[in-house]
Amino acid sequence: MLEAVDVTKRMALHGRRRGQWFTAVDSASLKLESGKVLALVGESGSGKSTLARILTLGDEPSSGTIRLAGKEVSLRRRADRQAHFGQVQLIMQDPFASLNQLHRVRYILSRPLRNFGASGDLTDRIIELLERVNLTPGEQYIDKYPHELSGGQRQRVAIARALAADPVVLIGDEPVSMLDVSIRLDVLRLFADLCAQDGLAMLYITHDIASARYFADEINVIYAARMVEGGPAEEVTQRPRHPYTQLLLESSPDPDRIGERSTLPIVDTSNEPVDREQELAGCPFAARCPHAMPICSEQPPPTTTFAEGHWSRCWLHTES
Ligand code: SF4
Repeated sequence: MLEAVDVTKRMALHGRRRGQWFTAVDSASLKLESGKVLALVGESGSGKSTLARILTLGDEPSSGTIRLAGKEVSLRRRADRQAHFGQVQLIMQDPFASLNQLHRVRYILSRPLRNFGASGDLTDRIIELLERVNLTPGEQYIDKYPHELSGGQRQRVAIARALAADPVVLIGDEPVSMLDVSIRLDVLRLFADLCAQDGLAMLYITHDIASARYFADEINVIYAARMVEGGPAEEVTQRPRHPYTQLLLESSPDPDRIGERSTLPIVDTSNEPVDREQELAGCPFAARCPHAMPICSEQPPPTTTFAEGHWSRCWLHTES
C-alpha cells in the first residue's frame, strides 16, 4: 500500500554549525502491506518521526521515492497531496495535544468527514466511528470535550478521526507510549482489529521492542538514521543478528530473565556530542558496540540476508 524507497533526509544546521548538514534519515526503505503491521523500532533521535512525516507528506525527502499503491507521489503535486492526505493517516503520541481542546468530539470528527466529501447531518456517521473504536455507546461521547475524556478515550477519538478519512494506511507515531500501561494493550488490540478486519496497513513507530514483538508482523530496527535490521517479528526478536537489536531486547522487560545479567557491555556515549556525518561514514553503532572492529568506523556494513527475509547490516555477518 505504501512504500519508501531509499529515502534520505538531510537538514541544514544553524547557529555555530551553520553551513553543516545533519542526516536525519539515511537511505531508508520499507513496505507497508494491507492487513499487516510493520513496527519501526529505535531510540529517540534515530529518525523514526522524520520518516513518519515524510511518509505522510508532512515533509519532503532530500532524495528517494514514496509510492502509494505502486504510484510515485510528490509533495509538490496538488492531486497527489490530496489523495495522500486522505489515504495515509497519522496518529500522534499525545492525544491531549493532537485534539483541539476548544471543540467537542462531534466537531473534531465532523471535520475530516466533511473534508473528504460528507455533507448533511453526520451524527450517525460520527456515532459509528466512535463505536468502531470501542467508545460505546457513541451517544455518550459525541458531545464531550477532550478534557472530559481519559487519555485512552482521547487516543480512541484521535484514531476515530483518522478513520473518518477512510484511509488505507495508518501511521502510529508512539501511539500508546503516553497511555497508562493498563490500557496500552487495549489500544494495540484495536489497531490489530482494524488491520485484520478492514485490511488497513499500519506502521507502528515505537522505542519499545517488547510491544513490537507482541503486536507487529514485521520489525525494522533503526539506529542513528539508518535501518540496521529487519524481517519477520518472530525472527528478529528470537534470533537478533545486529548487536543493537540484541541490546534492545536485553534491555526490554522479560519476566523469564529476572536476575540475569546482560551479556552486552555497552559503552556509554550519552554525554558525547553526536557527529552524525562521521557516524554514517561507517556503522553508526560503532562507538557503542562491544564487537566493533577497525573496518566498522571506516565503511558502512553491507546488507546480509538470512532465512525468512531476515536481514541485518553488520560486518560480523559478512563472509569476508
Ligand atoms: Fe558492531 Fe561493527 Fe556490527 Fe556495527 S558493523 S554493529 S560496530 S560489529
